[in-house]
Amino acid sequence: MISIIVPCYNEQEVIREMYSRLSGVLCGAGEDFEMIFVDDGSRDKTPAILKELSQGDKRLKYIFFSRNFGKEAAMLAGLTYSGGDYVAIMDADLQHPPELILQMLDKARQGYDQVIAKRNRKGDSAIKTFYAKMYYKLVNMMVDVKLTDGIGDFRVLSRKAVNALLSMQEYNRFSKGLFSWIGFEQATVEYQNATRAAGETKWSFKKLLQYGIDGIISFNNKPLRICLTLGALTVGLSIAYLLYLFIMILINGAVDVPGYFTIIAAVSLFGGIQLISIGIIGEYIGRIYYEVKNRPHYLVKSTNIEEKE
Ligand code: UDP
Ligand code: MG
Repeated sequence: MISIIVPCYNEQEVIREMYSRLSGVLCGAGEDFEMIFVDDGSRDKTPAILKELSQGDKRLKYIFFSRNFGKEAAMLAGLTYSGGDYVAIMDADLQHPPELILQMLDKARQGYDQVIAKRNRKGDSAIKTFYAKMYYKLVNMMVDVKLTDGIGDFRVLSRKAVNALLSMQEYNRFSKGLFSWIGFEQATVEYQNATRAAGETKWSFKKLLQYGIDGIISFNNKPLRICLTLGALTVGLSIAYLLYLFIMILINGAVDVPGYFTIIAAVSLFGGIQLISIGIIGEYIGRIYYEVKNRPHYLVKSTNIEEKE
């Protein structure tokens, strides 16, 4: 059986079409499947629509969260409740063409544990493409796992890969990193980028920025290592400069007083480096704080899936 996980947050405009296209494609291919729609605390009619649709189709499962917990939590819930031998994850807004699922399943059945859909960036605004490119350059410098542009959460996973993902119960989930971290046999399927069918993107600039920082920090400790290197570098430079001053004193016999510029430059530069380093350390401590609290990733308000855990 195949489980399809669809995280939804305020998707009332597209959810019906998503449902009919998805079930159309899978029915047409004669697949045995379940669709798990995870409603991430929508404040529109999404839950009502899902409930209504589920009455006519027992393959439609829904999970309603008690509030908005984010897409990562929604995907985790879907994975936890899924029962299929293969599990697909896709967006509700039809940016991930349901027709591609069949092609991806084919690959999965050939023995690939992760079949990844890779989109091109046609149709995206030039600025967004540019930022994305820069971001991936930067992130790949800073994290141990390899992240690729155009690869999102749209993928088909084998049960083995799903279990691997579920074994990682960290609170700060950064799925791009998690997917890459678990490894296994991977195959890629390319598709044409589509724009959102209706409704609007849930990503504000602030959220994207937050996500970007998460990607760098919540995945490994390279930024801390960068702080360490930077610190060592400045200490080395300072020692060299002090030695130079000392030798100058030995030669000239006096300190040249007018050093205002040097002092201000040094004070502000080192002050800045220290603040940044403390900030980075703080980010890590903040994350530890959340991990230690060990709270659930999400709270389920209601679902039509029988208790599984
Ligand atoms: N989503 C979610 N919770 C959130 C934000 C988004 O479940 O807090 C879902 C959303 O309904 C959609 C998917 O995640 O199915 C991707 O969101 P969106 O299309 O807004 O992102 P974009 O495609 O613009 O990157
Ligand atoms: Mg989208």
